[in-house]
Amino acid sequence: MTPEELAAVAKAKAFAEEHVAPNAARWEWERRYPLETIQAACAIGLNTIELARQHGGQGLRFSCKLRAFEEIAKVDFAFAFALINHHNACARFARDGKPEHVARLLPRMLTGELIGCAGLSEPGVGSDFGGLEMNAERIPGGWRLNGAKAWITNAAVAGLSVAYAQTDKSLGYRGIACFAIEAERPGFEREQPFELHGGHAIGVGGFRLVDYVAPDEALLHPPGAAFKAALAGINGARAYVAAMCCGMLQASLETAVRYTQQRTTFGQKVIDHQGVRWKLVDAATQLEAARLLTYRAARLIDEGKAYAIAELVVAKALVRSWLKLAQVVVPLLLVAVFLLQAALIVLVAALGMLLAHWIGTAGGLAVAAVVTLAIAGLLVKIAIDKVSKAGK
Ligand SMILES: Cc1cc2nc3c(=O)[nH]c(=O)nc-3n(C[C@H](O)[C@H](O)[C@H](O)COP(=O)(O)OP(=O)(O)OC[C@H]3O[C@@H](n4cnc5c(N)ncnc54)[C@H](O)[C@@H]3O)c2cc1C
Repeated sequence: MTPEELAAVAKAKAFAEEHVAPNAARWEWERRYPLETIQAACAIGLNTIELARQHGGQGLRFSCKLRAFEEIAKVDFAFAFALINHHNACARFARDGKPEHVARLLPRMLTGELIGCAGLSEPGVGSDFGGLEMNAERIPGGWRLNGAKAWITNAAVAGLSVAYAQTDKSLGYRGIACFAIEAERPGFEREQPFELHGGHAIGVGGFRLVDYVAPDEALLHPPGAAFKAALAGINGARAYVAAMCCGMLQASLETAVRYTQQRTTFGQKVIDHQGVRWKLVDAATQLEAARLLTYRAARLIDEGKAYAIAELVVAKALVRSWLKLAQVVVPLLLVAVFLLQAALIVLVAALGMLLAHWIGTAGGLAVAAVVTLAIAGLLVKIAIDKVSKAGK
């Protein structure tokens, strides 16, 4: 990272230790969204790390944002999650919004007066994003929206949602468009936030749109472009959530090491029991590996190689194909073995015939036939067993 990026990460860490760590448990006990601390974070630019400079942001890389929020998540994952969602809404609205719309609302978002959120999920639609049901109908000068969003981070307080709606169900995911939805406009109904134990600071909840009219200026992505844009955002989210989980794990590991260094059992520090050390060392090793993979994913995103994630999917598919191939090839090999065994049977039968010819009696012929059939039957059974086992 550049010195500027290192400074941004250090600033996030200092803010988290001074303003978030002492309050995180209290927010959870009070079951509330820490709006005043989110706004304090906005005041020192923690919502503008990746925002383009022309919009008043710092224009730093995705990797820098990821490292900064890893530091914040070390002290409170929920707060970090709420703040990064607001950060992303600011950056997306600034990038995709119409200039006059952005000029009117972005300054309020930058101070945290207007909190942003991303509205993809619905009460009946989550991972199957292409099947979303919020409806957008074209009307003169804009769009009329009806439907509900659920499980939306920051929905408890959000004033602007980057939300997705279906304009034509027959087009499937190609019919999805993206809008900037303002909570202050008629037709926006906020719903009661969810009781998310351990995560009240996320402010996760939902809202309903009832004949909400989004003017043309609020269209962020037209039908056909919105789905792709949403998936690009999800790629980034996978990487930064992984980094935030690394932050949480780091904090947990440090707590465990501190505690086991203090506590004594059976005449020695808990950490001096070898079984405990092994567990801590395993966790530290896995954390290091996870962190390196996460940083690599972030670097690929910065280099515009988000397709690396697709490569992973392809690699997984290849392994699956190899397994399938093995299921075909192994039985084929066994069939070859079976054919060899059949050749052996013919040889044994020929020897039997020779034996019968040599003995020259009907009894000798019968003995040769029985022995030949018994060996052949045994070989066939072994071959069939092997083929059916390999097929499974
Ligand atoms: C704390 C929190 C914050 C969130 N913040 C936001 C937000 O800001 N914005 C937003 O839009 N959404 C948000 N979400 C919603 C989140 O994106 C969804 O929960 C997620 O997409 C999964 O959807 P779902 O919960 O409806 O599960 P479903 O899609 O209903 O899936 C249910 C189960 O079935 C499994 N499953 C589904 N499809 C398949 C499949 N094809 N093959 C195998 N298994 C499958 C899933 O893995 C899951 O276990 C948030 C959720 C939480 C918990």
